[in-house]
Parts: sequence; C-alpha cells; structure tokens
Amino acid sequence: MSAQLDPAYRARAINALGDTEIDVLVIGGGVTGAGAALDAAARGLSVTLVEARDFAAGTSSRSSKLIHGGMRYLEMLDFVLVREALKERGLLLSKLAPHLVHPVSFLIPLQHRVWERAYIGAGVALYDTLGGARAVPMHRHLSRTKALELAPGLKDDAMTGAIRYYDAQVDDARHTMMLARTAAQHGATVLTRTKVVELIREGERVVGAKVEDLETGLEHTIRARTVISATGVWTDDMIKMTGVDFPFHVRMSKGVHIMVPRERLDIGTGLIMRTEKSVLFVIPWAEHWIIGTTDTDWTLDKNHPTASTADVQYLLDHVNTLLREPLTRADIVGTYAGLRPLMTGANKETSKLSREHAVAEPAPGLFVIAGGKYTTYRVMAADVVDAAAATLGSDAPRSTTESLPILGAVG
Ligand SMILES: Cc1cc2nc3c(=O)[nH]c(=O)nc-3n(C[C@H](O)[C@H](O)[C@H](O)COP(=O)(O)OP(=O)(O)OC[C@H]3O[C@@H](n4cnc5c(N)ncnc54)[C@H](O)[C@@H]3O)c2cc1C
Repeated sequence: MSAQLDPAYRARAINALGDTEIDVLVIGGGVTGAGAALDAAARGLSVTLVEARDFAAGTSSRSSKLIHGGMRYLEMLDFVLVREALKERGLLLSKLAPHLVHPVSFLIPLQHRVWERAYIGAGVALYDTLGGARAVPMHRHLSRTKALELAPGLKDDAMTGAIRYYDAQVDDARHTMMLARTAAQHGATVLTRTKVVELIREGERVVGAKVEDLETGLEHTIRARTVISATGVWTDDMIKMTGVDFPFHVRMSKGVHIMVPRERLDIGTGLIMRTEKSVLFVIPWAEHWIIGTTDTDWTLDKNHPTASTADVQYLLDHVNTLLREPLTRADIVGTYAGLRPLMTGANKETSKLSREHAVAEPAPGLFVIAGGKYTTYRVMAADVVDAAAATLGSDAPRSTTESLPILGAVG
C-alpha cells in the first residue's frame, strides 16, 4: 500500500490531524524520524510523522551511502560503536532491506611494506570478525601486482601492496522513503511539506504541535501524548522553539562529494585512502564514482549546503595522488554537500567527535534524538521510542524492527 502515491491521501490525512490525540508525533522525515515512526507504528502505537520538505531532503540523501562500522572508529578504539553498526549492517543485508543494501569492496593501498600491512591487516581482520560471520566476503591481502591488476588506473608507485575488504552501500534517499512507506503500511500517518512551527505546552508538558501545511499555508494542530524530535541539524531550532535547555547541542559539519563517470577511472573496486583529517572514499555508484568526503564547519543555510571551490580542489588533490591519469574539474559531472549532525563536545575537531547518539527528554512529553549515523538509524529509533513509550503506560510493547523487513524486501 502506498500512502504518498494516493493523491487523496494527503488531503484526508491533513484534514484528520486535529481529530484525535495520538500516541506519538515524530518531527523530521530523515532516516532517524522515518525509522522512529516505523518503530512506534509497528509496536501498535498511533503515530503521525511530519516532514517539512521531503523524505530524506536533509542529511539522509547526502551521505556517502555506506552501511558500515567505520574503519576509522576502529582506529579510535570505539569497538562498541563499530560492533553495533556492523550488527546493523548484517541485519540490513540479510533481512531488513536486501533490495536496497548491497556489499561493496574497497582497496586499501599500503605505502609501507611491513608494519603498515601488519597494523592495518590486524584492524581489518578485527573488522571482519566484529561484523559477524559471512555478512560480507572476508578481506584479502594483495601484492602490488595483484592490486594493480584489479585497479590498473592506479599509479605504479601508488602502493607497495594492498588489502581488499568489504562493506555495504545503500540507496539512502530511497531507503528512507521506504521506511516512511512501511510506517504508513503499519498505520502511521506520514506527511511531507508539513512543518512544525510551534510546540504546544500545557504547563511544562509538551502536548502536541502546530504544523503549517506548506502546500496551502494553513495551520493545523496535532495533539500527541509524546512528541519525538528527530530533526538532525535542525535540533537547535527545536531548542529555540521550546525555550527550554537541552542537555546537548548539535553542530553542523559539512561533507562534500564529487561524482565522475564510471569509465573515467579504470579500477574494479572502491578505494579508501587516509587523509590528514580523516579518510577519503572512491565509491562505485551505478554509472558513476562518488568521491568524498570533506569535514568542515558550516554556519550558513541548513537547507542548502554547497560545495566550495576549495572543497572540490581538496578532493581532487587527494584522489589524484593515487591515479595514473589525474582527474580534473572537467571530469566532474556533479557535486553534493550534506551536514553531519554532531553532538557538540568541548572544542574537539568535528572529525574526532563520535557519531554516537543521545536521547533526552528536555521537557515532559518531548523526546529528542540526536547524533548517530545512517547505519545505526534502527537502534536510534528504538532507543527514542523506548523512552517515549515508557511514559505511555506499563504495557507498551518492545521494538520489533530487528525482524521487520521494510517494504520491497520480501521476495
Ligand atoms: C557527507 C556525509 C556523509 C555521510 N556518510 C555516511 C555514511 O556513509 N554512512 C553512515 O552511516 N552515515 C553517514 N553520514 C551520517 C548520516 O547521513 C546522518 O547521520 C543521517 O542521515 C542523519 O539523519 P537524520 O534523520 O538524523 O537527519 P536528517 O536526514 O537531516 O533529517 C532531519 C529532517 O528533519 C526535518 N525537519 C527539520 N525541522 C523540521 C520541522 N520544524 N518540521 C518538520 N520537519 C523538520 C528536515 O527537513 C529533515 O528532513 C554522513 C553524513 C554526511 C553529512
């Protein structure tokens, strides 16, 4: 059943908004909010999900599209985060969304013969182990000759050898949209172009929200026993709206990707390389390669982060250190930029801030989820709905999404 494809659905749903008090109002149709709406609806709760623009219009369509534990978190010795993310990778690949999540291989070029192979090799072996048996193929060590056979487009002196390992990739925007549609299938009302403009309070308690239908300009009231804010980099706007103190703030870190045609690089696998700040990926994406990403602060319009000349040059400079035929600006067929929702930590570089998430109830009835990464959306959703459901009564059911395939997964 498709909710948004039925033209009458939206009008009916908007008109019914004020009719009854619902259990959960979810604000934000990124992967976290869509995941929370599905989690809550699948528990049998009455749910409305409102998104100001379109599903995944924020960060959730602008990621590197990897479902991964994150090699660099392993290097930061964040084993809990890596194990949790790799468990989610296994679930998405095998059960929850095998139609939208697929294995992808990466070559790690090695520059130093002995110690680097031992050091990185140990990390990749651990990564494969933490990821659960056979979720993706195991890594392999390659000689320089074998690596160049796989990736003839790399310079002869780009490496002394390489390791090939596997992760997974997702069509992020489509996956987020399918989460929202699956939530609708489980009875949730899901609305795009519907923006929360005010939270309704009774004393201290948040009891719903006023929303503006951006199609008509009309305002509607939604009364809800609990309200979940899953608004990513817009979380601080929610803080302003409530006027209460939140235990954390969300800082924006911009990440840029460039896209070049697939035939432009003669390599038969993705690449990952270390940069002075973080890592850079070259990721196969249908007829293109996605190359990214950067990590810089952004203080301008949240709706329209853009790539600067310096961002593009940074990516070209780094990837060209490996390539036999350097890429130029003329090869670039597209760029996109996204904003990472990072919880603020005292004066740290953004690339060192953890992608871990937090749930808070800054005012009774209002639950805020922030931080995290795409890969762990399901855990984030379950955590915030657990917190909200605990206030709805003792018989609130547990999350079922660990074994709930999203629409299109079965068959
Ligand atoms: C460059 C980059 C690369 C990344 N790569 C990866 C990766 O490869 N793998 C990975 O796991 N993670 C990755 N991430 C992180 C991941 O993309 C994010 O953590 C995730 O998409 C955040 O989702 P979200 O739902 O919390 O936020 P968003 O997707 O931003 O959703 C928030 C939504 O709230 C809506 N909203 C805001 N205010 C209101 C309001 N008042 N009323 C109604 N709606 C409102 C917005 O319109 C928006 O759609 C990457 C991030 C970036 C920036």
